[in-house]
Amino acid sequence: MAGQYNPYQNMLDVLDEAAQKLGLTKNDYVTLRTPERELIVSVPVVMDDGRTEVFEGYRVQHSSTRGPCKGGIRFHPSADLNEVKALAAWMTWKCAVVNIPYGGAKGGVKVDPAKLTRDELRRLTRRYTAMILPIIGPEKDVPAPDVNTDANVMAWIMDTFSMFKGYAVPAVVTGKPLEIGGSLGRKEATGRGVMFSLLNLLEKLVRSPRGMTVAVQGFGNVGSIGAQLMQEKGFTIAAISDAHTALYKQDGIDIRAAMAYAEKNNRSIKGYSEPGLTVISNAELLALDVDVLFPAALENQINKDNAAAVRARIIVEGANGPTTKEADEILKTKGVVVIPDILANAGGVIVSYFEWVQNQESFMWDEDYINNNLEKVMKRAFDEVWRVHETAGVPLRMAAYMVALERVVKAKKLRGVFP
Ligand code: GLU
Repeated sequence: MAGQYNPYQNMLDVLDEAAQKLGLTKNDYVTLRTPERELIVSVPVVMDDGRTEVFEGYRVQHSSTRGPCKGGIRFHPSADLNEVKALAAWMTWKCAVVNIPYGGAKGGVKVDPAKLTRDELRRLTRRYTAMILPIIGPEKDVPAPDVNTDANVMAWIMDTFSMFKGYAVPAVVTGKPLEIGGSLGRKEATGRGVMFSLLNLLEKLVRSPRGMTVAVQGFGNVGSIGAQLMQEKGFTIAAISDAHTALYKQDGIDIRAAMAYAEKNNRSIKGYSEPGLTVISNAELLALDVDVLFPAALENQINKDNAAAVRARIIVEGANGPTTKEADEILKTKGVVVIPDILANAGGVIVSYFEWVQNQESFMWDEDYINNNLEKVMKRAFDEVWRVHETAGVPLRMAAYMVALERVVKAKKLRGVFP
């Protein structure tokens, strides 16, 4: 990412503090300060005009202590090893905090997919899959969608892996299209989980969503679906944004209409209009006088330079790593409650887990069953984190890390260090 910010260092700083609060010695968790495996690959792609371009790709497996490594793949020009390492570690903590039997991993390719044709994107995805193939698999490491990757990309990954094996292996990847072993509810799962975690917080605060305003940064899968589901629960979505624009309307934007617009306009809300809507800047969006800020874009968005300007009383993190540690300190002194990424956005990987289980069973669950179980897992995790937040007197992020780290360290102790 831009400038000095190193997301992996940010992760380590929070991890070290959580370990210290749990009374762990360095020896208890030193293995968790470095990823188990880091793979850098070159991905040559024959472009439509005949030139060969080489992209850099990554797959980092942070931990397999609690189960197979799990985590998405992003295609983004700013993807780099430090970012992917941080994202892989966050997956370890995320799976542990919601107590699903996975470790953590992440992948990425440094590329702007908007500049590729569909054929180029397909060749890029297949070659990247071939390059990381030796380290992925249903029992090893299971990729999924992340920034700029979707069910279609997962279908290409599933097919590439299956062609090498000689038979269909749906469980190698989650977030697939329904037709080839995807799960009902997976597409909506991250946004739905964010909505559940916000409702879980409001229940603790004895507040109702009615009349509460939300500003959403990012209008991809998580931001758009999260906003839509929040609107259905009675929240007023006062602002939305994407990489190209930010839009504000005090009495609420019609999220379904904005989604339909984005669908037809290269997935962007730039140019979307409705009566009363004004265009604002990204900085203005983050500083709006709303009840809830819902960052659903990239890392390092709320940082030491703009945290003091945040006026929302609640931040629910749809993105991974949107708030830096320095920003957390500032928000804490302002009394802002942050529902941390590893808890708030865990809905995606929870339903990925359900998808993987369905693939292993060759059986399809119905959508109500999936959504009800998602709600249950989110609620149980929220309650566990809340308890630590109250008993240890720490913010929710620290409480979530403490719950997660304790679980991973316990598993590590049981397994021991090989040989
Ligand atoms: N990319 C999502 C995340 O950051 C989902 C990962 C998954 O389902 O494995 O949590």
